[in-house]
Amino acid sequence: MITFDDVSKSWGDNHVLKSLNFDVKPGEKVSIIGPSGSGKTTILRILMTLEYPDHGVVTVEGEKLWNVTRGTKIPRETKQMRLTRRKIGMVFQQFNLFPHMTTIENLMEAPVQVLGMSKDEARERGMELLEMVGLSQHVDHKPPQLSGGQQQRVAIARALAMRPKVLLFDEPTSALDPELIGDVLNVIRDLATSTDMTMLMVTHEMRFAEEISDRVVMFDHGRAVEQGPPERIFKNPENERTREFLRAVL
Ligand code: ATP
Repeated sequence: MITFDDVSKSWGDNHVLKSLNFDVKPGEKVSIIGPSGSGKTTILRILMTLEYPDHGVVTVEGEKLWNVTRGTKIPRETKQMRLTRRKIGMVFQQFNLFPHMTTIENLMEAPVQVLGMSKDEARERGMELLEMVGLSQHVDHKPPQLSGGQQQRVAIARALAMRPKVLLFDEPTSALDPELIGDVLNVIRDLATSTDMTMLMVTHEMRFAEEISDRVVMFDHGRAVEQGPPERIFKNPENERTREFLRAVL
């Protein structure tokens, strides 16, 4: 579904991704763990074309999203980028809702503007999704009137409104007060267990990653240093950096 083949990315001397090879199969639920600054968010941003690699090939559903050779010019916007972005939804740490729009307007915006869906259909689908994330009573509220946990559930519903094949989560609970985290994790858990969407999640919620993932990937210094089923990674890590990291966070 997704492959990173020999992908590198630097900012100045900061080599964030180093010849990264990594793939995700269709329908797979993959959690990415690792220390701060190891490049986890960067791989999600490259998939959303919010960043570009300096080198390497990134494919989504067999189509090349990025095919960059060091030193060559980076294409600004290609048809393939637009097509791929439609297949991918992303949930950010800071929700990134449109603050001046109501909840339902947030959900209708992309289906109407990008997919050309009728307003009636977009509203109906939006209402279903708000019900699914437990927020039907907040249809006409604007993001500043909602708690962080509610905003994040709206953000998940907004990503789903585009019927993505792939859902990316970038530390979806790290900006939330502890008592609001559970409701957001419940929504993600339901998606992981009841849909065949491919899910790629950067997270510091180790217990949650253990519970919902088919595979956990440990990142360190821009490389996937260890990966495997969650029970093995968490109970019997082979790599010294994974052991050290898990000792510090568990
Ligand atoms: P965290 O868990 O703290 O979010 P991460 O593993 O997700 O970390 P990234 O966000 O991918 O790490 O960032 C990797 C490195 O790239 C960090 O050192 C970060 O400071 C740097 N970086 C990210 N974006 C930029 C940018 N636009 N300009 C310069 N440096 C950047």
